[in-house]
Amino acid sequence: MHIDRHKTDILILGTGGAGLFAALHAKQANPDLDVTIAVKGLVGKCGCTRMVQGGYNVALAPGDSIERHFMDSIVGGKWLPRQDLAWKLCVTAVERIQELENEIGCFFDRNPDGSLHQKAFAGQSFDRTVHKSDLTGIEIINRLMEQVWALRVNRLEEHRAIELIPAADKSGISGVLMIDMRTGGYRFVQARAVLLATGAGPSMYLYHTPSGDKTCDGLAMALRYGLKLRDMEMVQFHPTGLLGGPDTRMTGTVLEEGLRGAGGHLLNGAGERFMSSYHPQGERATRDIVSRSIYSEMRDGRTTPMGGVYISMGHLGADSVAKRFPGMVKRCADCGFDLAGGRVEVVPTAHYMMGGVEFEIDTSTASPGLFAAGEDCGGVHGANRLGGNGVANSTVYGGIAGEEMAAFIGKGAPLRDPDETVIDAGIVRAERPFRQKAGDLLGLRDRLSHTMWNDIGIMRTAGSIANGMTKLDEHGAELTETGLADGDRAFNLTWHDWLNLDSLMTISKVIGTAAAGRKDSRGAHFREDFPETGDLDETAYTQVHGDADDLQLDMVPVTFDIVRPGESLIEDEAGAPPVTAGER
Ligand SMILES: Cc1cc2nc3c(=O)[nH]c(=O)nc-3n(C[C@H](O)[C@H](O)[C@H](O)COP(=O)(O)OP(=O)(O)OC[C@H]3O[C@@H](n4cnc5c(N)ncnc54)[C@H](O)[C@@H]3O)c2cc1C
Repeated sequence: MHIDRHKTDILILGTGGAGLFAALHAKQANPDLDVTIAVKGLVGKCGCTRMVQGGYNVALAPGDSIERHFMDSIVGGKWLPRQDLAWKLCVTAVERIQELENEIGCFFDRNPDGSLHQKAFAGQSFDRTVHKSDLTGIEIINRLMEQVWALRVNRLEEHRAIELIPAADKSGISGVLMIDMRTGGYRFVQARAVLLATGAGPSMYLYHTPSGDKTCDGLAMALRYGLKLRDMEMVQFHPTGLLGGPDTRMTGTVLEEGLRGAGGHLLNGAGERFMSSYHPQGERATRDIVSRSIYSEMRDGRTTPMGGVYISMGHLGADSVAKRFPGMVKRCADCGFDLAGGRVEVVPTAHYMMGGVEFEIDTSTASPGLFAAGEDCGGVHGANRLGGNGVANSTVYGGIAGEEMAAFIGKGAPLRDPDETVIDAGIVRAERPFRQKAGDLLGLRDRLSHTMWNDIGIMRTAGSIANGMTKLDEHGAELTETGLADGDRAFNLTWHDWLNLDSLMTISKVIGTAAAGRKDSRGAHFREDFPETGDLDETAYTQVHGDADDLQLDMVPVTFDIVRPGESLIEDEAGAPPVTAGER
């Protein structure tokens, strides 16, 4: 099999907030570096940073502080975050938002006095979410993309990374094997430093928000490469995904949190508000609580015609809603709903993975030369990501990765010779579907999405997880036997569907393994058979590694190196807010 081979100094996988910031900062640190970005779609036109609606968390306003942002993140994350990572996020977000505005050219919404407008997001003690109306990501990614275009950066668009390739002498990473999706040919890019920034994405669930290009490829590659994944049971469901029917990709897309923050009501199929019977904060409770409450209504049969609940905004005044949330109103209108004046059917939707690759504060991983940033990484958010901390995470750590990779190369990082046996194995793996008889991939994807939704979804038990894992084995065996009808490799999207499913099934097993291992309920992870939070002082995180067919799980104690449960960094605050019954 022919393989095109290239060399570069820095290879970046993915062009979301993490990937583009890394490219920018690497070139700023050393303009002479040869930087290559490889992406499954088109630069800046794919991934989830572009889809960010609500905004960007940063402690800027008088009265707010980095300590307050940090405490909200730790308490919201149920004491599972790695505290140094969370602190770095809160501190650097201030610098990064100024960079976004003053150097990169983003225009965010402002108050009449000229200061940045910051809106309320659930689970936060201060209004700290900077935004551009309700379509913040487009502003951020378009401006970033222009900045990167202006640099001499090599672009490998429509290139799908399929394997991280270790050095033949096992001293670190040598590069990445990818498929040029336009021709179907293989390409190996050898690099001194590689950044994994493919954005994870829980798109194995029946209802999900991430863009179609995100199928956990980076996490599956990292697992095969030997890295450890942490907090993988922590899959965040956004409470209000649009429910537009089974045949539209609009189903599952997010109606932003600001709607509930502004005072929107959730109603069950009988038209009754129900949130106050689940939590004193009602619709403004955190995402995990609202998602579970909606799911409970659905399970008890109090649903709308399409099986969800309603969000209703009309009591806030249709004109005002239309003015404040134009993007959301338009999205709903496209599916035949009147958000401003009527009711819209919604359902919880898998949105974000708090778990991911274990990485260090300088974005390095356990393998020399391999760096990771953004949603591919675990540890920053713990059991729950605050709305607005996602894009802060990817831009903060993406920028750090760019600087650190440049410094790493500055210290003489070598181009390592690849382990050719891993390249060969990667090609054999990718070629597999061409050797099988054509089958029903769409049906298989549908079965996977129902398994994850029903058995390893919003509420779990040991029995449901075990059931789900058995089905995942069956789905995996079926995929291995399923081939493609068309042997042409150029733009063969069914081939890429097969590869997507392969990544999703691998990572679904990791989620199931971690979910079985965590015998308590925290944040996004709710075990009906273990509804208690457990002793916060004894908090441990899940760490999964090994072969997808023989996964190993360890529980690793969390180090409270900045603040302990019961303490707070905020003056005059007796301690962290207690976990209420409703939050369990
Ligand atoms: C609808 C929606 C709304 C959101 N709203 C908010 C919000 O208001 N506030 C907030 O903080 N967060 C929000 N988020 C979360 C936020 O978008 C993410 O946390 C963050 O942007 C992820 O950035 P990233 O760079 O890690 O990944 P992404 O921006 O998702 O980029 C990943 C990149 O990797 C590429 N890629 C994937 N697989 C491969 C492969 N095999 N080979 C090569 N390239 C690959 C993709 O094509 C893409 O370019 C939202 C997410 C969604 C889906």
